[in-house]
Amino acid sequence: MSEDKLPTRSENYSEWYNQIVLKAELADYAPVRGCMVVRPYGWALWENMQQGLDRRFKETGHVNAAFPLFIPMSFMEKEKEHVEGFAPELAIVTIGGGQKLEEPLVVRPTSETIIGYMYSKWVKSYRDLPVLINQWGSVVRWELRTRLFLRTLEFYWQEGHTAHATAQEAEEETLRMLNVYADFAIQDAALPVIPGIKSDKEKFAGAVRSTTIEAMMGDTRALQSGTSHFLGQNFSKAFNIQFLDWNNELQYAWTTSWGFSTRVVGAIVMAHGDDQGLILPPKLAPFQAVIVPIYKNDEEQSKVMEAVERVRQELKGFRIHVDARSEVTPGFKFNDWEMRGVPLRIEIGPKDVEKSSVAFARRDMPGKAGKTFAPQANLAAQVGEMLDKIQASLYQRALAFRQANTYDPKDYAELAEVVQKGWAHSYWCGKAECEAKVKEETKATTRCIPLEQPNEAGICIVCGEPAEKKVIFARAY
Ligand SMILES: [Zn+2]
Repeated sequence: MSEDKLPTRSENYSEWYNQIVLKAELADYAPVRGCMVVRPYGWALWENMQQGLDRRFKETGHVNAAFPLFIPMSFMEKEKEHVEGFAPELAIVTIGGGQKLEEPLVVRPTSETIIGYMYSKWVKSYRDLPVLINQWGSVVRWELRTRLFLRTLEFYWQEGHTAHATAQEAEEETLRMLNVYADFAIQDAALPVIPGIKSDKEKFAGAVRSTTIEAMMGDTRALQSGTSHFLGQNFSKAFNIQFLDWNNELQYAWTTSWGFSTRVVGAIVMAHGDDQGLILPPKLAPFQAVIVPIYKNDEEQSKVMEAVERVRQELKGFRIHVDARSEVTPGFKFNDWEMRGVPLRIEIGPKDVEKSSVAFARRDMPGKAGKTFAPQANLAAQVGEMLDKIQASLYQRALAFRQANTYDPKDYAELAEVVQKGWAHSYWCGKAECEAKVKEETKATTRCIPLEQPNEAGICIVCGEPAEKKVIFARAY
């Protein structure tokens, strides 16, 4: 633990993040600049996230399908704002099988265009609507500055694409999925998030309106953790998604799209981690508890391992790992699993065997404060309760941190000061000039106009003109 010691978060937050992602074996750098390899421990975390989301998608009536990786270049050009927004980030294939292609193919940066094209074939009548499809996959955006999980050339995500007969239905869908993301973030990832609407400047290329959930990281920067877009008829007009309505009149469909990606793995690392490493929320942790056997000689070992096996059986409803390595000490194992963020450690030694007990150590409460003893009888119920407590305390802690670092500055000078150390929750008139001034002078952007608003109007923190809504200004990942 000497030369490869993690920097503390206050010493170098960015380096702490990079090192913890590598050391905990969540991901590694790929041979292609900006690409990442998600290692088994990181992928197991992502799989648990996928399951939590997929269950919610299906509960709200969605089905999964798979669309191609390649999109004809001409498709991208059909929606003007869409192509302008994505053009600088496109990876384009011009040769296939040794032959120059007649039409270049784009490696999908997102799939509105190709899915819109397919919907135009499938949707003919109001009876074909709504279409509620999601796909799990990866997309490619040629980013210049990359960080593992936070911004990589290729990343994993899901993208939902829906088509509806009315604008109202599509708007309801946009909000429904934003709420699904917020529910997952809060309940499963223990991330307090603020759902809100993106400014025109920050919205998705081709959307009428974008909504987002924003989370505060451990260095107080914001991270956009899921977005849901009302696309109006922009893509249905570009791709001719038309249907005969109840009056037998031809109408354009109203569409939405919504996405949630492996960026949120980065959010979990940054929102919950401490100077010892990761702290994973029990609902998503690849291992909810690790059992560490403690013994000094062969005789103790056989007794302890017998109890460990019994406990493991008792706890088979949980994701449990038994660390039976004999080449490293229990102390080494404690540090190792602390670094890797396992929510609960269960120690079993000769004394525990005698007393028919185990020792619990909570990852979210280092040292003596987080240690308790529990009888082996009825252990599953006790582990379940303990994991619930840890889950709840991670959420409460992240919420308290956000509240402590969110300010209501009285004027522009104070705004410029507070966004260097946290979030500003301020009135904004809605004008792009005011937003641009803040960005240029402070590097903070508008993160979202929260859905929850105060009852009274105020004055814009930048220009002093009347303002109806409050916005979050923050520096962001
Ligand atoms: Zn203003």
